Amino acid sequence: MTLAPRLLEWHAHAGRHDLPWQKLRSAYRVWVSEVMLQQTQVSTVIPYFERFMSRFPDVRALADAADDEVMHLWTGLGYYARARNLLRAARVIRDEYGGRFPTTLAAVMELPGIGRSTAGAVLALSADQRHPILDGNVKRVLARYFGIDGAPDEAATLARLWRCAEENTPAVDVATYTQAIMDLGATVCARKPRCEVCPLMADCRARIEGRAAILPAAKRRKAQRRRRSAVMLVARNAGKVLLVQRPANGIWGGLWCLPEFADREAAAAYAASELVATDTAEPLPEIEHSFTHFDLVITPVMVRCAAASRVHDGDSLWYDPASPARIGLPAPILTLLGSLTTEATT
Ligand code: SF4
Repeated sequence: MTLAPRLLEWHAHAGRHDLPWQKLRSAYRVWVSEVMLQQTQVSTVIPYFERFMSRFPDVRALADAADDEVMHLWTGLGYYARARNLLRAARVIRDEYGGRFPTTLAAVMELPGIGRSTAGAVLALSADQRHPILDGNVKRVLARYFGIDGAPDEAATLARLWRCAEENTPAVDVATYTQAIMDLGATVCARKPRCEVCPLMADCRARIEGRAAILPAAKRRKAQRRRRSAVMLVARNAGKVLLVQRPANGIWGGLWCLPEFADREAAAAYAASELVATDTAEPLPEIEHSFTHFDLVITPVMVRCAAASRVHDGDSLWYDPASPARIGLPAPILTLLGSLTTEATT
C-alpha cells in the first residue's frame, strides 16, 4: 500500500496548517524556514522567522543587507554557518537570477548551504514540484515503516531511504504530501512513536515487528567528544566592553566576540599594553558551551581599562550592553554581557 493517500487524508485533519511559513507561501519564505528548521525545533524557529521576514521580506532585501544585521537576527539560533550561507545564496540569486528564486532542482542545489533534501522541500512546498525529501523526520518514518535496519548515516542505508522516498512521493499533491510526512515524523512517528494514532500503523513493519522504539538504528559511534579551552578577555571601559569580530572561518565565524587568548597571562599582557588596564585581570566563572563535535570551556577574565587607544574601527568595537549595537553575537557571550548589565544595575 502506498503512503500518499493515507498521509494526505491524515494531514487534512491532524497535520500542521498554521505555521508562519505556510502563509503567503513562496520559495523564499519556505527556503528560510527550512534552513532555520535544520537542527532546530519549530517552536524555537517561529519568532526568529517572523523577525527575519519583517526585516527581510524578500530575497533582495536579504541580499542587500549588511552581514552584521543578518547575524544579529540570527543570534541565539546557533549553527551560524547557516546564516552566512543564506546570505551568500541570496546574493547569488540577486546577481545571477535577477532576484528570482531558481526553479530547477539542480540550480537550487548549487546555492550555498542547500543540499538535496532542502532543495527538494523548497520546490515541493512552494511550487508543488515532484521531488522526494529526506530530512531527519522523514528518515525516521521511512526507516520504521519499511523496517530498514542500517544506521541512516551509512551510505547503503541512505541510498535505500532515498529510493523509498522517491518511490513514495506522489505525482500530484506533492506540497501537501511533503508537509504531511514531515508533520507525521514531528508529531506522531517522533522519537517516542505514537503508533496507536498513526495512519500507517496497519502495515508498518517496525510496529508489526515490535521494533518501533529501536529504529532507526543509532548512528555509528562518533569519536569521543573533545573539550577545548579558551580564555576570553572582558575589557570594560566606562560600562562598555571590547568586542572583536571573529574570522569568517571557524567557530562563530563573522560574529562579534570577546578577544580570545591562549592563556590568562596573554590576556593580561594585552590588557596592560594595549588597553591601559587599571586593575589586575580577575577570572570570572567558567562558561561551558556545546558544539556538535566538542565542548568549549570559556574562562572569562575581567579588567577595567582607562583608555582604548589601540582599538581600531572595522574589526573591533566598544559594545554597550545597555544600548546594544545590531550585530551578531554568540549566545553564551550575549548571556555574559547581559549579566554584566544586571551586575551594574544591582
Ligand atoms: S506505526 Fe508507529 S513506527 Fe510505524 S510509522 Fe506509525 S508511528 Fe512510526
